[in-house]
Amino acid sequence: MKNVLILTAGFGEGHNTAARNIRDALEKAAGAEVNVHIVDLFDRCYGRLNEFLRRAYIAAINKTPRVWGKIYNVIDGTQFVQTNMPMLTRFKRALADLLHQYEPDAVISTYPLYGSIIDQVFPIGEPRPFSEITVITDSITINSIWYRCASDHFIVANDDTAAVLRGAGVTEDRIHIFGFPVTHRFAEMTDHRFTNEDRGPRRVLYLINSGKKEAPSLVRRLTKRGDIKLTVTVGRDIALRRAIEEEIRATDDRVEILGWTTKMPELLTSHHLVITKAGGATIQEAIAARTPVLISQVVPGQEEGNARLIVENDCGQLAPDPDSIIEALDGAFENNAAELKRWTQNVAKLSRPAASLQIAQFVLDLEVPDPSRRVVVPAAESPAVIRKKSPSILLCDLHTHSLYSDGKLTVAELVDFYGQRGFDGLCLTDHICDHTRLIGKVTNLSGLVLTQDQLPEYFETIEKEKKRAFDKYRLLFMAGLEFNKDGLTKRTSAHLLAVDLKGPIDPGLSITQTIAEIHGQGALAIASHPHEFKTHWGKNTLYFWEHIDQYAPLLDAWEVANRDDIFNPIGLKRLPFVANSDFHKPKHIFSWKTVLFCEKDPEAIKQCIRVNRNVAITLYRDHRLGIGFNDLEAETERESEQAVVDFPAYPRKSA
Ligand code: ZN
Ligand code: ZN
Repeated sequence: MKNVLILTAGFGEGHNTAARNIRDALEKAAGAEVNVHIVDLFDRCYGRLNEFLRRAYIAAINKTPRVWGKIYNVIDGTQFVQTNMPMLTRFKRALADLLHQYEPDAVISTYPLYGSIIDQVFPIGEPRPFSEITVITDSITINSIWYRCASDHFIVANDDTAAVLRGAGVTEDRIHIFGFPVTHRFAEMTDHRFTNEDRGPRRVLYLINSGKKEAPSLVRRLTKRGDIKLTVTVGRDIALRRAIEEEIRATDDRVEILGWTTKMPELLTSHHLVITKAGGATIQEAIAARTPVLISQVVPGQEEGNARLIVENDCGQLAPDPDSIIEALDGAFENNAAELKRWTQNVAKLSRPAASLQIAQFVLDLEVPDPSRRVVVPAAESPAVIRKKSPSILLCDLHTHSLYSDGKLTVAELVDFYGQRGFDGLCLTDHICDHTRLIGKVTNLSGLVLTQDQLPEYFETIEKEKKRAFDKYRLLFMAGLEFNKDGLTKRTSAHLLAVDLKGPIDPGLSITQTIAEIHGQGALAIASHPHEFKTHWGKNTLYFWEHIDQYAPLLDAWEVANRDDIFNPIGLKRLPFVANSDFHKPKHIFSWKTVLFCEKDPEAIKQCIRVNRNVAITLYRDHRLGIGFNDLEAETERESEQAVVDFPAYPRKSA
């Protein structure tokens, strides 16, 4: 029995397709003798943010391909990995956890980045308990992140891509040209297109996956040609299908319109030419089917290589608009279709319809690494160790302030205060203002908020207290910040909590960028006091609530209660919730708190809040006498400290 773990990501078209095809081929080749798991670690680690990025990615390639090209170029090279190391901490951890869970004999990556992350978990040169295989799904213009890693093997689709790796110094014994892992069904299909029995007009397949506006009129122009028989696919786009039917109503019916189909390999193998955008999987399937391609759109950056593969090997041509598509067809069919025949011969040379089966066999034949290596625990904080802890009921406060902003206690006093009361989780979230906003600028002068230059000291102080808090009180103390994004009105103001940060974040970033940075550090992004206060005269911060559709997918939780206030609408909306003191001074301990049922570990606490299961809130009352409790009395009106921050123009009340 062989265990295979396939790592993929839902960005772009080719990675998931490749992953699934390799799995199917492995199962076809080895049946019950192989155990394959496909995991999208981006999805596991970044969840909703990942979904947001994926949608942004799809929107970006459809609307502004140039922009995406730029982004793609920016993330090329090792710079991305180096400058975003904090972002990868969570990833490393999740990967280590995954490897413990599955104990794979082979790890196959169909998305770049995984190789670099494995190098972080298992330093280069140290023995690894599995073989590592990188399946490069791009062609020719491949991002260097793909091969700047210590992977044992690189599987590429063609000679051109192999040449890129050689040029980058990858040794020959690690490069394997098997073709792109198209579905193994290609290997079993018979092809009648080029036999004498195959008569009648040539069949053209038009996959309408871009340029949808011009598509109906183009379909009409194509159906007027006597030299082709047309098939179009419209996917799930019913409006597009209607528009096409409308356009061709007057003409005879030489066109077949298909909706979403799982028979793409069969379709490609029964047509003589395909018109499509340069998506990785589609281009590779066309090559496997030996079908020349007219390329109707290229996403700059990652699709360029696919387009070059077709054009440079003379297997078709670029035709980025309806006129050039018509022109290209004219050229292909003149002189008894001489050009089309040449394309067909050339594409046959590239075609490797059995690629997935060959990759599967290669993986199955790899020697199983020494199982004794499995005892290697990759990270100091091994998730396996953490898993052994059992869940318990945890009393937590994730929103507190110290003297670093407008609180009354030093960090050490705060730790003692909560520690003595038996709290399990505490996060310090001192205010930091957006220096790019007017109100932020003014508030920064008040001395009642953290400024950027204090951040290193702030994080160092918390780091020191963390150890003491746990040793003395078994209290998990976490670093955080409250980003004050104050506008001139309550509708333009937002307070954003970051819980369990690893380091500083520039307070001048946009809210969305700030959330991305917070998530990049594995921290939680929480909307603080997102609804109308009932208890005080201070300014409300309603920006998140007013833009709930935009922020609900990005935020990990919302404060359903803050000190004495409870925000009913947050509960009614079924948003993931927490409740916090917004602690500034001892009497604020009389307030709403979060209760969790999970393991006593920062990661477990955050995950519990993210999934928002086994979460409760409680109104905390304390009858303990001690430091700072001389003034313990019920308080219904909100104190001035925070209002000072919200309204820098108000003079600060003396303490
Ligand atoms: Zn606040
Ligand atoms: Zn606060």
